[in-house]
Amino acid sequence: MDLALERLQNTLKRVNKAAKEVHRDFKDVKLIAVSKTHGEAAIEKLIETGHLRFGENRIQEAQSKWPQLKEKYPNIELHLIGPLQSNKAKDAVALFDVIHTIDRSKIAMVLAEEMEKQGKRPKLFVQVNTGEEPQKAGVSPDEVVNFVNQCREDYRLDITGLMCIPPVDDEPSPHFALLAKKAKQLGLSDLSMGMSKDFEAAIQLGATYIRVGTALFGDRNTKPV
Ligand SMILES: *Cc1c(COP(=O)(O)O)cnc(C)c1O
Repeated sequence: MDLALERLQNTLKRVNKAAKEVHRDFKDVKLIAVSKTHGEAAIEKLIETGHLRFGENRIQEAQSKWPQLKEKYPNIELHLIGPLQSNKAKDAVALFDVIHTIDRSKIAMVLAEEMEKQGKRPKLFVQVNTGEEPQKAGVSPDEVVNFVNQCREDYRLDITGLMCIPPVDDEPSPHFALLAKKAKQLGLSDLSMGMSKDFEAAIQLGATYIRVGTALFGDRNTKPV
């Protein structure tokens, strides 16, 4: 069987099994294929199996691949899952359908301006630094309620969910549980959490979007930034 299709089917099987175990509908878990570092050929193989939801973590890299692919396959849904600088907000709004990484007022403000200017409404997530790691992006768990409210009130942004990347050496479940708790407090229904190694745990704690690279594409050629 075609390798891309086989990896997709294996991943969907894992999703299905994890959802079943907690009596969730498999369709409520949306799979984002994280294509960072992979070229158009590998991406197109997956698109041709019928998969249309993709994620990238760097805007410049995404700009080199996705405008052409989006033109060829207009139903692609593209997710920005990496850090966003304010001078890239314009490009992000132009290219992405969903942005997972809002984490400070400046970004919220420039995104709101660009969305207004371009007449585009990407779906928006706030990134939470659940492990409070100094080098990692995201608002601290203690600040997330205030920050989301500020996005809503000051910038009229319709935040639909929260996203996290647990510390690599930690057991991920407590981080997923914390993210779910914060989302519930805020009345947010979407949770972007879980990657190749831990998405079952994320699904069991309520993930609605899982971000999966390696399980779908194999090892990355270069280290992610
Ligand atoms: C690269 C990346 C992923 C995918 O990681 P895998 O372990 O390859 O599944 C998920 N989320 C973010 C934010 C990433 O940068």
